[in-house]
Amino acid sequence: MRHLIALLACSFVTMSASANDIEPSAARLAASVSRPASAALPAKATISPATAIAASAKKAVLVPAAAASEEKDGKEEEAEVALSAKIAERLAELRERQQARATAAARAKKVADARRRQDEQAAAAAAAIAAAPKHGTVWSYEGETGPANWSKINVDWGKCGTGNRQSPIDIRDGIKVNLEQIGFDYHPSSFSEVNNGHTISVTVGGGNFITVGNQTYELQEFHFHRPSEERVNGKGTEMVIHMVHRSAEGKVAIVAVLLERGQPHRLMQTVWDNLPLEKFETVSPSVVLDPLDALPEKREYFTYMGSLSEPPCTEGVLWLVFKQPRQASPAQMALFSRLYPLNARPVQSTGGRMIKESN
Ligand code: ZN
Repeated sequence: MRHLIALLACSFVTMSASANDIEPSAARLAASVSRPASAALPAKATISPATAIAASAKKAVLVPAAAASEEKDGKEEEAEVALSAKIAERLAELRERQQARATAAARAKKVADARRRQDEQAAAAAAAIAAAPKHGTVWSYEGETGPANWSKINVDWGKCGTGNRQSPIDIRDGIKVNLEQIGFDYHPSSFSEVNNGHTISVTVGGGNFITVGNQTYELQEFHFHRPSEERVNGKGTEMVIHMVHRSAEGKVAIVAVLLERGQPHRLMQTVWDNLPLEKFETVSPSVVLDPLDALPEKREYFTYMGSLSEPPCTEGVLWLVFKQPRQASPAQMALFSRLYPLNARPVQSTGGRMIKESN
């Protein structure tokens, strides 16, 4: 019995050193172990470990050694061994459970740490993408990729947002002067055309020039907008043709021909007759067109310095806008409006720029 008391005391030392949640189990164990050895002790589940030890010890002292028979001694020894084994087994169980809990907690912490690291990496990657320079190429005339957001789509399109010499503008309060005539050296030429997703664009074969002042520019390409991008004293027209020229040094001059409803437009008809079936497919018809057919009869014009009216909105562009519109038939206009009902950038601030116009 003394061995049992020592073992019990040992187990309490071990248990009190363990985690708090083991203590209730230790109390139950002590209670169940002490019950068979002490008939006087009430079997209460709430009995404290200390009371159990004291009761067992008291019982051990109270049993008179002389009165105990050999047979009784033998049974006690047996019971003691069985109890020792039971206690050892329960202790092992408790330790095992505690170990399992500790392992599970460590595993959970590891998973949580890994998840936190993953979240941190994802946040850092998102921040890097947000801060990285944009190189988008998709733009349009409406919605999220529309004119108000062009400068945010591509780092090289900043002028679309911050430029102060942008096009188109509302042309008014021009200075009337004797502007020299634009010299046109145009002739029938081969061409190719494409529906580029923004307009119908016609690339003209080489050798078509204009001369303004002492500068010569070669016609590269012309295209259409609906409605006209330019306004004159607040008024636009139904469409406009932009004829884009480039000098040997890379300077750009754009001739704008406003279009209003009336007689059929020969050059426009040639372009419409050869429209590609698919977007982005370039066709090179076997016929020729004469860029002179694009021009109005009278050659008075407005002129100002502006920009490309589409991304990248490059400035330093010489604009030459004919005062007299040319006509195109309602059917010709309707055909374009089926492809592009709206492909015009809104007018930009003039910002005190000088506008000159022919007398
Ligand atoms: Zn244009």
